Amino acid sequence: MDFAIRCECGAVQAALAEPQRATRVVCYCRDCQAFARFLGQTARTLNPCGGTDIVAASPHRLRFTHGVEALRCMSLSGKGLLRWYAGCCSTPLANTPRDRALPYVGIVLDCLPESAAARDAAFGPARIALNTASATGPVAATRFATLAGVLKILRNVMAARLSGKYRDNPFFERDSGRPVVAPEVLTSSQRRSLYG
Ligand SMILES: [Zn+2]
Ligand SMILES: [Zn+2]
Repeated sequence: MDFAIRCECGAVQAALAEPQRATRVVCYCRDCQAFARFLGQTARTLNPCGGTDIVAASPHRLRFTHGVEALRCMSLSGKGLLRWYAGCCSTPLANTPRDRALPYVGIVLDCLPESAAARDAAFGPARIALNTASATGPVAATRFATLAGVLKILRNVMAARLSGKYRDNPFFERDSGRPVVAPEVLTSSQRRSLYG
């Protein structure tokens, strides 16, 4: 069954097919924290140690069903990941590499407590913690689970790449490969203020 994704106000909706092929991780990196801060969504998005609950998936399995015109894109720097959000209500949605040739999307899961059961049912519990050095509280590193998770993600990336399915990516125009929304790239002083 597809996993349903929606922004806080409901204008933007998406569905992820075959959620069992995705890999759930909690990312504690400063950039994910800065993204939540940029949107004013730290309370909703970050766990008490500054982690963002993310599922790594193949972009061709994700499709927007409503409100794609509200999609917005930012990047913390000229080389950073593209970070996608719903402009209607500033809900973080996903991050992608800048080039669709690397077919990967990290979908930001809705971390409200009432969504926890749905997240666990679709993806299993979060067993992988990434970038724990920048956690804002004590978080155990998960070396073996991380290695297994990274290998699973790479397998999916390679499969989408070799099959040509990487062109089916809702964040990039099919023909030109350009992002569907031009990214707003922050200046270094804007970025610094978000690192806190
Ligand atoms: Zn919205
Ligand atoms: Zn991160």
